Amino acid sequence: MFNVQEIKKDFAALQQQVNGKSLVYLDSAASSQIPKQVAEAMSQYYATSHSNVHRGVHTLGERATSAYEGAREKVARFLNAPKVENIVFTRGTTESINLVAYAYGLHKLQAGDGIVVTLLEHHSNLVPWQQIAKIKGAKLYMVELTEEGHLNLEQYRSFLKQGNIKIVAVTQASNVLGTVTPTKQIVQEAHAAGAVVVVDAAQSAPHMAIDVQDLDADFLAASGHKMLGPTGIGFLYGKSELLDDMEPFQMGGSMIGLVDYYESNWAEVPAKFEAGTPNIVGAVGLAAAIDYLNALGMENVHQHEQQLLAYAWDRLSQVEGIELYGPRQPRTGLIAFNIDDTHPHDVSTVLDAEGVAVRAGHHCAQPLHKWLHTAATNRASFYIYNDEQDIDRLVAALQKVKEMFGYVTR
Ligand code: PMP
Repeated sequence: MFNVQEIKKDFAALQQQVNGKSLVYLDSAASSQIPKQVAEAMSQYYATSHSNVHRGVHTLGERATSAYEGAREKVARFLNAPKVENIVFTRGTTESINLVAYAYGLHKLQAGDGIVVTLLEHHSNLVPWQQIAKIKGAKLYMVELTEEGHLNLEQYRSFLKQGNIKIVAVTQASNVLGTVTPTKQIVQEAHAAGAVVVVDAAQSAPHMAIDVQDLDADFLAASGHKMLGPTGIGFLYGKSELLDDMEPFQMGGSMIGLVDYYESNWAEVPAKFEAGTPNIVGAVGLAAAIDYLNALGMENVHQHEQQLLAYAWDRLSQVEGIELYGPRQPRTGLIAFNIDDTHPHDVSTVLDAEGVAVRAGHHCAQPLHKWLHTAATNRASFYIYNDEQDIDRLVAALQKVKEMFGYVTR
């Protein structure tokens, strides 16, 4: 296991005071903080190697290209992808899923085909499929939840049986309930029914080891900014036979083979999906973030978060009037909650005044909140730099919320 106090020292943002209190950052599920190693790798790149990629034959052009392609290799190894070419750089999970929706769904689906999504999905793994279904005349099937917040697998199986299902879009971990889905099983059953599976790994890739070959996912998407990297960079993993057979998503420079007056053909994967100048420094930062996570070990990251989660669940459950959402296990290191009938925005404002950063809102999961019968929740999410004292600060600040909104008298 690792030493959280030592880790904290790598994160400049965590050294500051907010509203006169030392910052407790519990919003890593939205965006994690950046260690100095990532910031330094990016500034070093700008200082020594910045240029465009895949173009110039001058030294800086070659340095930039090798930094960018080296980052792709790191992502491939992080996911145990069979080939470097399985990795397409994108702006993040949202763009990765849109790429699959438009470059695969739009061309492969026909009227009457089925797409399965789940009630756990973030809007970015739901709305693109709603749109593709609308354009193609396909039918969308929504897998609902058990009372505890697990996917209703019986319903999933009934969809696979009854529908002409071609695509299953599922999150590996919910950004609201924390639920970790039985993704491998979902993939197996989808394949048996002849569907391809798109896995949203935005909330799993930062927190657990992923082996895309073991998972047998067809596509898998994640974002750098939730795994210690910068914003504006993410990736799509795709099986070669699928990526090779897909149309491009965006057209322009770098994604072409030959361009003639009236028609063009395409570069090989992954260039085919990376039109225009990519986020080179973002890829450099993501590679440094992966180095940081690898040095800690993803098993250790997972174990640390599970210990913290157990402690937080225990402490938060004891706060009078609190409701914690989602199953106890299996879940990732985040807890969404409401307290009495205090609006989540009021709760998070008071917490912020105490130096504790949590997120409030619908977390881009409105259907799930409809199912929870609440417009919004608070969400505390944990990462490698959080410890039990951070949870204690959260619980103490929640006590202030109760005092302020009149539920506790002293
Ligand atoms: N899926 C899940 C489960 C998420 O939590 C998020 C980010 N909140 C996304 C997708 C979208 O990620 P991004 O905004 O980086 O594209």
